[in-house]
Amino acid sequence: MKRLVLSLFILVFVLSPNIFLSQQEAQEKTQEEAQEEIQEKPKPWQWSLDDIKSKVERIRAGKDLTPEKWPGDARVAVALSFDFDAETNALRDEEESPGLLSQGEYAARTAIPRILNLLDKYRIPATFFIPAVTAQLHPDSIAAIVEKGRHEIGMHGWIHERNSLLEEEVERELMKKSYDALQEITGKAPVGIRTPSWDFSLNTLKLIKELNLLYDSSLMADDRPYEILENGLPTGIVELPVEWMLDDYPYFGFSRYSSIRPHISPDDVYEIWKAEFEKAYQEGTVFILTMHPKYIGHRSRIMMLEKLIQHMLSFKNVLFATHESIARFAKRNIEE
Ligand SMILES: [Zn+2]
Repeated sequence: MKRLVLSLFILVFVLSPNIFLSQQEAQEKTQEEAQEEIQEKPKPWQWSLDDIKSKVERIRAGKDLTPEKWPGDARVAVALSFDFDAETNALRDEEESPGLLSQGEYAARTAIPRILNLLDKYRIPATFFIPAVTAQLHPDSIAAIVEKGRHEIGMHGWIHERNSLLEEEVERELMKKSYDALQEITGKAPVGIRTPSWDFSLNTLKLIKELNLLYDSSLMADDRPYEILENGLPTGIVELPVEWMLDDYPYFGFSRYSSIRPHISPDDVYEIWKAEFEKAYQEGTVFILTMHPKYIGHRSRIMMLEKLIQHMLSFKNVLFATHESIARFAKRNIEE
């Protein structure tokens, strides 16, 4: 028996360096292969024009869907939207600091009631894009939005995940879960999506189609509503385009440990948004504004938003509508 144990021990001792060596070799080989693969992958300046075209044409802007006239003979359609991220951006980054999370809590506790009061005052509908986790953390806020009866709730991810970092299956699962959760909490199936951070993966459009959504509001190819093309083919999906300039975050966002901080006053932002609205009115298209309760909901900024609403209401024939109603109306142009 002793002899057997000893022989086994010798055998393991003799073999193990070989095992170790072969593992090391294997690792080196994989690294070499990966290196070769990187070297083999053509650099952007080596791409052919066909390669480049196939990349840019995956998703493009198709038909302009601006109608001759908006409902009620309106000249312009105004879509105010609020991305109710609350704590999700911090949680998505695995941040658990009560300080950061309290900024998210502010959105639900202070900003949402303030925004709803403002919209009530002028009887204006709006769209709230809400990550499913926000909806589950703040059911009272969702109930308050739904109770008004004139606002829309659209999809905005599960926990504000970055789609382009996800495998297709994970993105699909999160999108489906978010859809189901919003439907359960609000009592209505969502019809539109704004991807978190407007981050659009190569699979996002496919998943939007799988959920049979009416519209997306995350792309930027126009100021006007348009039909999304996929590899040159019409998809029937309406795009209600966004722009960083028409978002409160770049003006009012603040991060303690980075260089992100407000550098412009609410009055300056008012001037930009006012001019954007006036040109949209002249052109008879849409004015789509993206705001975040935790940024726009502060006192000085909500006063600016009220001033902007008053300015827009001073024009004749201005339609305030949800993304859903604008998309439904615009989609008639596809079907024509
Ligand atoms: Zn967001």
